[in-house]
Amino acid sequence: MTQQTTPLLNLIALSADEMKSFVQGLGWPRYRTNQILRWLYQHRVLDIEAMTNLSKADRARLQEVATIHRMLSSPQKIATDGTGKFVWNLEDGLAVETVLIPEGHRRTLCLSSQVGCTLDCGFCLTAEMGLKRSLRAHEIVGQVLNVQTSLPEREHLTSLVFMGMGEPLVNFEPLAEAIQRLTNIEWGLGFSPRRITVSTAGWIPRFPDIRRLGVNLAISLNATTNEQRARLMPAVNGRYDLSALLEACRHYTQFSERPLTFEYVLLAGVNDSPEDAKRLVSLLSRIRCKVNLIPFNEFPGNPFRRPAPDVIETFQGIVRNKGLDVFLRKSRGDDVLGACGQLGRSASEVLSQTTTNKRRTLPIYAQS
Ligand code: SF4
Repeated sequence: MTQQTTPLLNLIALSADEMKSFVQGLGWPRYRTNQILRWLYQHRVLDIEAMTNLSKADRARLQEVATIHRMLSSPQKIATDGTGKFVWNLEDGLAVETVLIPEGHRRTLCLSSQVGCTLDCGFCLTAEMGLKRSLRAHEIVGQVLNVQTSLPEREHLTSLVFMGMGEPLVNFEPLAEAIQRLTNIEWGLGFSPRRITVSTAGWIPRFPDIRRLGVNLAISLNATTNEQRARLMPAVNGRYDLSALLEACRHYTQFSERPLTFEYVLLAGVNDSPEDAKRLVSLLSRIRCKVNLIPFNEFPGNPFRRPAPDVIETFQGIVRNKGLDVFLRKSRGDDVLGACGQLGRSASEVLSQTTTNKRRTLPIYAQS
């Protein structure tokens, strides 16, 4: 008769509460929970043998029942501007991407929350994949642990932004669990919530939950009329239209110390006119916020185009002159498809594509 072997438990996949129960189950003292968690998150060990404040006997016992498994990366692609794109191979054969953006001493990491996306924003490469699945908490945190481990010893990640693949707020529970591990000071990675930004296409039922987590919230707005937004972002706008979104944003800032950030992808001939700029100012007039303008990052198969520099300047000038804080986001990593809205397939896969994507039709040009 063949003996069935129980698969080893992946320690990094356990929440803090699960770790506590696991430690109790082994008959160990309670303090051992935090000891193990510190080895996983603060020392980033990948080998139970390295947990040297556990006795040899306890390490041996732990190795009988558990392991530490973090996802592996394909070789990092580095863009000419230094932006790094990591493609992680998940246990079930799927892949997800993370982008590291170095700027001076700052190291910003753009994280993914899903493989593909539930939503269907017309200017986004990830949308073309559809949703394969949502990431689990340890797969979200694993992106941070792995990238930090890959950096030279004196370099540290300074900010984390959930602007990669997926709509983070539809994967809220794993996101919240990941944020707990990222911010916990006692045993976790100790990031200040102020250094973490979650970006949403407008999944408003989760806004109060995000406020409770204390992290920053960014809204991917991209339109100044409901009709425009319905065409650019049909799935989310079909559930929560522009007026519902703006009302939720007003409410959010009434109860939050932090201002909101609005992200606005500028698409040539679609949402970049002076009228759009004026409407944007009026829509945001009663909301404490700043605006990030993101000139569209073109990719093969997508019909949208980046506006000309003078159009971008005029748009920004109108918004700024009306007193809003407005910033132009520099395009980073677009030669490895690591820029905003370009995550989903490796650059080589996309660049070798010869046919136009079937889901894409002509851009939705403004009627003016
Ligand atoms: S822009 Fe964000 S929310 Fe929209 S499809 Fe792309 S990943 Fe999803």
